[in-house]
Amino acid sequence: MRERGSTRLNPAQLLKAIAFAADQHSRQRRKDAAASPYINHPIAVATVLASEGEVSDEAILLAAALHDTVEDTQTTFEELEEHFGLEVAGLVRELTDDKSLEKGERKRLQIEHARESSIRAKQLKIADKICNIRDITVSPPANWSLERRSDYLGWSEKVVAGCRHVNTKLDQEFDQAIKRARETLSLNP
Ligand code: NDP
Ligand code: ZN
Repeated sequence: MRERGSTRLNPAQLLKAIAFAADQHSRQRRKDAAASPYINHPIAVATVLASEGEVSDEAILLAAALHDTVEDTQTTFEELEEHFGLEVAGLVRELTDDKSLEKGERKRLQIEHARESSIRAKQLKIADKICNIRDITVSPPANWSLERRSDYLGWSEKVVAGCRHVNTKLDQEFDQAIKRARETLSLNP
């Protein structure tokens, strides 16, 4: 889906962003029991956007690959701007929590900020939640109780409520991911 104002994808730029993120996250692992390589997640988010959301806008796909670099590594917005430009750095900023705040407040702010986000950031936020919900379904963080997984689903729905109606396919994939998660975990909606 190419929208007005979207940037044409240069595959070399996307590969550069993936390589940059892989390098920054190289010593990190996801929270699942198998401790999957961290980079699997940013690649999954970019893949959901391209394959399921039919997004071909370069800025969105690069930002997907880079979306957790500032939050979870030493990467700065200035570095992202230098290597990938102002638009990509700005999008990553929209996806980055303020880590100086306590967890509950950060989660509350994600719900609040979703509605005010740009159209591009809304798609990124939905794709991020789709990937995390799929992970919660099949490879959740080790030791998470059913209650905690259920809480995460409910919170994600509140964030995504503020991101809907910009990409129908992503809205549908999110709804399916939630439904499947609840069925698999035998949770009531
Ligand atoms: P976290 O924010 O600590 O963990 C979830 C995040 O971890 C995801 O958003 C994702 O973020 C990342 N992640 C890494 N690996 C996985 C994976 N395999 N599956 C899914 N996500 C993964 O947890 P919560 O969202 O629960 O937030 C913490 C809050 O929960 C605090 O407010 C705390 O007080 C509360 N809490 C609740 C409990 C409960 O039982 N309900 C128990 C303890 C705490 P990303 O995409 O950014 O990497
Ligand atoms: Zn993420």
